[in-house]
Amino acid sequence: MNREQQNEKKIGELKNDVQWAARGWRDECDSTNNKFLITEAYRSYENQMIAWGKYQRGEIAAAAYPGTSLHQKWLAVDIYVISGTLSKIVSIAEQYGISRPLPTRDPCHFEFCHVQPPTPINPPPTPTLPQLRNALKWAKGIRASSILRAIKRLTGR
Ligand SMILES: [Zn+2]
Repeated sequence: MNREQQNEKKIGELKNDVQWAARGWRDECDSTNNKFLITEAYRSYENQMIAWGKYQRGEIAAAAYPGTSLHQKWLAVDIYVISGTLSKIVSIAEQYGISRPLPTRDPCHFEFCHVQPPTPINPPPTPTLPQLRNALKWAKGIRASSILRAIKRLTGR
């Protein structure tokens, strides 16, 4: 498996709604010659236990306690820099909402927990005047006054 295939396979392990950010990040890094290989994305509980053990023995710099890693929640990747600079890769990641929470202890670990959906969610439709008047029949207190304000906005009085 070449680098492109492995990166695509690892991106496919992430949660569906953050994959767009991972692909945008990868494409922009590739096209600016800041190439990386995703070495790990999803990690099973068993593999997190193994990583935790290595961390406890001082063999690796960082590993979350099993059950708390975002790798286990399909929301983290580890990369290996092939060309360009890690700082450029980080700045491109930030444009997509991808964060790097442990810059000194685990510099190649990136998280997707703050990635927003790619397109804004459509706002709910504005209720019509008959709908508002109907709703007012059953509304009480704060709810009724907010409906009255909405009617005022629509009718101008
Ligand atoms: Zn990691």
